[in-house]
Amino acid sequence: MNDECTICRAIGWVCERHPYRPYDYEIGCACGYRAPCECNDSDPPDTSHVTVIIEETTH
Ligand SMILES: [Zn+2]
Ligand SMILES: [Zn+2]
Repeated sequence: MNDECTICRAIGWVCERHPYRPYDYEIGCACGYRAPCECNDSDPPDTSHVTVIIEETTH
């Protein structure tokens, strides 16, 4: 996480509907769901949209 992130104010979370505001009622916005900021890599990346090709290994 970037402690100097100006998007989320180092919170690590942003408003889903306003992804450039920190997820905080006072300093940002929290009208939507909580979404990870660009700097927040604590959650595993969503790879559901990635086609994973697993080649069969020879035994
Ligand atoms: Zn951030
Ligand atoms: Zn919002």
